[in-house]
Amino acid sequence: MPHPAWLQELARRVPRERLLTHPAALAPYESDALTGFRARPAAVLLADTKAEVVEAVRLCHRHGVPFVARGSGTSLSGGSLPVPEGLVIALNRLNRILRIDPDERLAVVEPGVINLQVSHAAARFGLYYAPDPSSQPVCTIGGNVAFNSGGAHCLKYGMTANHVLGLEAVLADGEVVQLGGESLEAVGPDLVGLFVGSEGLFGIALEVTLRLLPRPEAYRTLLASYVSLAAAGEAVARIVAAGILPGAIEIMDRLAIEAAEAAVGAGYPTDAAAILIVEVEGEAPETDAEFARLHAVVQASGATEIRVARDAEERARIWKGRKETFSAVGRLSTDYITGDGVVPRTRLAEALAEIERLSARYGLRVANVFHAGDGNLHPLVLYDGRRPGELERAEALAGEILELCIRLGGSITGEHGVGMEKRDFLPRMFGPDDLALMRRLRRAMDPRELANRGKVLGEPVPALVG
Ligand SMILES: Cc1cc2nc3c(=O)[nH]c(=O)nc-3n(C[C@H](O)[C@H](O)[C@H](O)COP(=O)(O)OP(=O)(O)OC[C@H]3O[C@@H](n4cnc5c(N)ncnc54)[C@H](O)[C@@H]3O)c2cc1C
Repeated sequence: MPHPAWLQELARRVPRERLLTHPAALAPYESDALTGFRARPAAVLLADTKAEVVEAVRLCHRHGVPFVARGSGTSLSGGSLPVPEGLVIALNRLNRILRIDPDERLAVVEPGVINLQVSHAAARFGLYYAPDPSSQPVCTIGGNVAFNSGGAHCLKYGMTANHVLGLEAVLADGEVVQLGGESLEAVGPDLVGLFVGSEGLFGIALEVTLRLLPRPEAYRTLLASYVSLAAAGEAVARIVAAGILPGAIEIMDRLAIEAAEAAVGAGYPTDAAAILIVEVEGEAPETDAEFARLHAVVQASGATEIRVARDAEERARIWKGRKETFSAVGRLSTDYITGDGVVPRTRLAEALAEIERLSARYGLRVANVFHAGDGNLHPLVLYDGRRPGELERAEALAGEILELCIRLGGSITGEHGVGMEKRDFLPRMFGPDDLALMRRLRRAMDPRELANRGKVLGEPVPALVG
């Protein structure tokens, strides 16, 4: 089939080897880390410069072609799924750290820079970039911005939104805008805040100015075992109620421990029903004092065993196990859905007990590993896609967990975005007026809904997008 006119025009403007159109070359881009959804784009542009991204967006605007920005494709909610017959603009080659200013404590980076690379580059100035998704060795800053990504240490420091000072972005009509700047004190409405977390619906980030923080002088990390998941959840509420603000509080249940042990050998206790990993950090004297209080609260919370990391190596091993659990679950089951809901911290124990009941009722295993300090649950629903009907059962179970989060006063996503996966749940959280406002905002930026069409707010009404 001959290529449509817009694609022929694009092919004249970019080198042939960076415009993929062959089905075999497109295959890796047909889905993101939520592999249950697939769609074939007309083409993938491996953009090399921001000028190329702008040119491609302008061309899409002229021809009414939907486009999707893509970083590393680690979205777990189908956020970077292509629009069928649309254009995927892949940003991995825009991976330059343009500037690090240690005096202003900021970094200006291209959107395809890998999260962890920012901290590596900032380390020689004693600085680092705080948001640390478990995918940080592979995910990009552009993807983090779009999803307002979080991580283990966002409890203390906040999510991506708290660390983006400024943005250069191309809107869906090809206009290039500067939002925010280099200062913490922005003037006017918070347009950076509007863009961060907009899941690619407001355009493509071309350059991002990130806030850097001084590396904490000391870390103290403990690992506590519990006889039930609910008891570990209850301990989190106690730590927070005691006025302690750890850098991170994470929970892993028995299945998650099993997976992490098989993959990494982190030395986790395999007889525990759940473990809690808690870390405090900061100036050494303050950290020691906070750790002593933490230790006392954990001891009083019914922990059956408490281990304290003795050195940096032990701390690194504990975190390696936690951070690799998502991928490690692949050892327990070839297929799984990664949930991402939020409940108020005080209702964690209740939520976890209910998830256990749901897992038994559906006859499907659920592994839990999550940022407990934020009340951010990540139930991993294990299923076997080869068995007829099992995917549908897994989806129904994952859906019930989201309903549970809403019922308990939480939210349907903590950090993985709405994407394709959860767009049908949006009306359960927001009323028609709220949703209409979101769509009005979207249309103000992108009247034809070309940028990441169909995600978050669902498909646009055809009459309005002509
Ligand atoms: C093993 C594993 C662990 C994970 N752990 C965490 C975690 O702890 N915390 C967390 O928050 N997430 C986590 N994630 C989810 C995922 O890694 C994050 O959402 C990440 O931010 C996605 O980055 P990416 O570069 O892969 O983006 P992609 O998947 O390529 O894209 C994600 C979204 O961003 C949009 N986008 C990409 N680049 C741009 C840009 N420049 N401008 C505008 N929009 C853009 C895309 O259109 C899409 O909607 C995990 C995923 C995996 C597979």
